Amino acid sequence: MKCARCKEINAPNMQYCFKSGLPLNDKTVVTLEENAEVIQRLMTADAIKPMIDKRIREIMEEGKNK
Ligand SMILES: [Zn+2]
Repeated sequence: MKCARCKEINAPNMQYCFKSGLPLNDKTVVTLEENAEVIQRLMTADAIKPMIDKRIREIMEEGKNK
């Protein structure tokens, strides 16, 4: 069974890739890929910009206190 992530060949009865830990069950792989897509959509600039702005403000505040 070939791993979809690292292309490592695993034994047919293996549930997870011994190298990368990716589930070899087709259904599970599809689910993970769907999740990855959702995560990618969430991680757009709009989603992370407030976090970056907050961190920049924190860094600037820290700088003021020095
Ligand atoms: Zn793998």
